[in-house]
Amino acid sequence: MSEFTGLRAVVTGGASGIGLATATLLAERGATVACLDLDTTVEKPLLGIRCDVTDDTSVRDAVSAAVAALGGLDIVVNNAGIGAQGTVEDNDDAEWARVFDVNVHGIVRVTRAALPHLRSSQHAAVVNTCSIAATMGLPQRALYSATKGAVQSLTYAMAVDHLADGIRVNCVNPGTADTPWIGRLLASADDPAAERASLEARQPSGRLVTATEIAGAIAYLAGPRASATTGVALPVDCGMQTLRPRR
Ligand code: NAD
Repeated sequence: MSEFTGLRAVVTGGASGIGLATATLLAERGATVACLDLDTTVEKPLLGIRCDVTDDTSVRDAVSAAVAALGGLDIVVNNAGIGAQGTVEDNDDAEWARVFDVNVHGIVRVTRAALPHLRSSQHAAVVNTCSIAATMGLPQRALYSATKGAVQSLTYAMAVDHLADGIRVNCVNPGTADTPWIGRLLASADDPAAERASLEARQPSGRLVTATEIAGAIAYLAGPRASATTGVALPVDCGMQTLRPRR
């Protein structure tokens, strides 16, 4: 029997990048998985359900649809997120509200809708996709970093609140990862090759993290083998948070 046999998962932002890699890996390991995303074009056995994490009604409808289709819910991967560039001077109030609405309030809405179902599970786990930006000062990422700092704090707060419910809550903190998101970022740079080389050089290993590597960490935290692990922020960053190799 596979590790996730009989377990039912929803992955927000599951149609692309880290979310799609996670949904695919969980399904390969035996879970039934619904991808909650603005984009519903995922391939079987994944189930695509339209969900806008900034809209509470949309979230409640999508979680209900997932629970009905999967027969319950054990795992929530809060992964949907958007980026923002610039210093604290560069984004107006509306942009601050928009990015917080997706990256932080989205986690609140999805988890709030899922909790009644998670309480009925014997293996309940929530994994949030945070970022190295929560703990490191990265240039031109004031707004994005603030949202991810909030995600890490929220992870700890939810972990302690739901200890008694038997629901584990953890997050992964990826370094720069090779996903469609970073592809779009590079495509918009003046010199995409130089920008990519700069991002790679920032990682102690000299390369970007893959979506599959992050999916592996999320699956570990989501799975029964991590049953003693809650309230943890797990870096998946090729050493970026802790290592200073000599060049
Ligand atoms: P991606 O752009 O490839 O995928 C993001 C997905 O989220 C898309 O499918 C998109 O449709 C969905 N989404 C966006 N807004 C949504 C909304 N309102 N409702 C529902 N779905 C929505 O990005 P990715 O690189 O896979 O990033 C996924 C997560 O990983 C994000 O939370 C991001 O902050 C985090 N992260 C990414 C990196 C990186 O370098 N790529 C590093 C650290 C953390």
